[in-house]
Amino acid sequence: GGADKIFETVIVGGGVAAGYAAREFVRLGAAKGAVAMISREAVYPYERPALSKGFIMNKAKVPGFNVCVGSGGENQGEQWYVENGIETYLSTSVTSIAFDSKTLTTDKAGTIGYKNLILAMGARPVTLTDMKMDDAAKLKGIYTLREVEDTQPLLDALIENKGKKALCVGGGYIGLECAAAMTVMGLHVTMVFPEPHVMQRLFTPEMAALYEEVYAQKGIKMIKGTVASGFVGDSNGKVKEAHLKNGEKVPCDVVVVGVGAKPNVELCQDKLDMEARAVKVNGRFQSSIPDVYAVGDLATFPNAFLGGVSSRVEHVDHARRSAMHCVNVILGKETSDYAYLPYFYSREFDLSWKFYGQQSNETLTVRDPGANHMAAFWMEGSTVVGAFVESGTAEEESMIQALARAKPTIDVAALKAAKTVADAFAV
Ligand code: FAD
Repeated sequence: GGADKIFETVIVGGGVAAGYAAREFVRLGAAKGAVAMISREAVYPYERPALSKGFIMNKAKVPGFNVCVGSGGENQGEQWYVENGIETYLSTSVTSIAFDSKTLTTDKAGTIGYKNLILAMGARPVTLTDMKMDDAAKLKGIYTLREVEDTQPLLDALIENKGKKALCVGGGYIGLECAAAMTVMGLHVTMVFPEPHVMQRLFTPEMAALYEEVYAQKGIKMIKGTVASGFVGDSNGKVKEAHLKNGEKVPCDVVVVGVGAKPNVELCQDKLDMEARAVKVNGRFQSSIPDVYAVGDLATFPNAFLGGVSSRVEHVDHARRSAMHCVNVILGKETSDYAYLPYFYSREFDLSWKFYGQQSNETLTVRDPGANHMAAFWMEGSTVVGAFVESGTAEEESMIQALARAKPTIDVAALKAAKTVADAFAV
């Protein structure tokens, strides 16, 4: 008891899931003042992927990419939250949760009570400190990106260091998008990552080759099969060189560390059941404590589309859909389990790829000769379980989604014989 204010539902976090949850409450007619959102960010929820696709190239600014513009919805700014009666606390951190008394403690807004709680704290980047490089972590010029607050200083550094050298640590999609953005911003970019090729988690060597070719043409150097083991600074404490485990030394004025994220579970990890380092929920996003839900990057859920396989998805499409599903459950409008068709995408330079479905050990890849147009199909025997297209037409992009959903049996020999992407889709 003793909360300063009590709400029907409190959303902890102000990211993608929080913004889409707020919209779903409004769409379903939640009463004004019933829902509160508490975010430690200073700005209203925005489409986080735009940070590495527009913001760091000085092209897009908040509030221009606030949710829900990324999925064709309205741009929700201050006025939207006020008019719709979503009580919003910005620049406010939840510092503890008392699940027994259903109250939250915050750093700036006192104690807040809830009937239902949606945990949407997302994840944060793995840092050099996490990698036991404490001294290097103190150097200036080394950045991670997750929020406007850490991406703005990176953007400032890119503008200031035009013509100088940048290093991207990590070969996943953050590394790839940052390397492209930094190149566009006029820096000379090197990437370093331990895997044999980029996007190891999704791409086969054949697929990765396309991206590596384009990156080489743009002047980006890739150092594979090794990791950064330390950084050296100048007399002003600014980074000047990276030391790699293979003995190489790489001069650098700006460093971006993009080596993954870890869920923000500190508020709840001792009190809720956890799985895969995140909050374990059922197909309706309910945690092990009644009336407490978790969504987005923070949740490990059984995916009904995959027969209940336990899944954690760190992608924007899932953040949106999980949040909406959860709100429907809370308002009594949804009783079925979440069935999610995995969907990931990325954009770098003029490249743009989409992937739907599941991965398997067998892939068939088709690329148009001399072009960036490429498709790939993940197979289980003669059944398609996942599909990918780079530089696809709108029709091809909807076809890969339909394929991954329907999992048809196809003529494998004909697909293998396909010489172009168009031939492949004709199969
Ligand atoms: P988040 O959006 O991270 O939101 C979490 C929120 O909780 C933040 O506002 C945070 O400040 C707040 N918070 C945390 N702790 C507290 C606390 N104690 N008190 C108050 N507030 C708190 N996905 C794709 O599918 N495609 C892409 O191209 C893509 N690009 C990306 C590019 C970048 C640079 C990044 C960082 C991510 C990208 N993603 C992409 C991933 C996608 O953005 C995430 O999966 C998505 O944002 C997850 O949503 P979420 O709401 O769970 O977490």
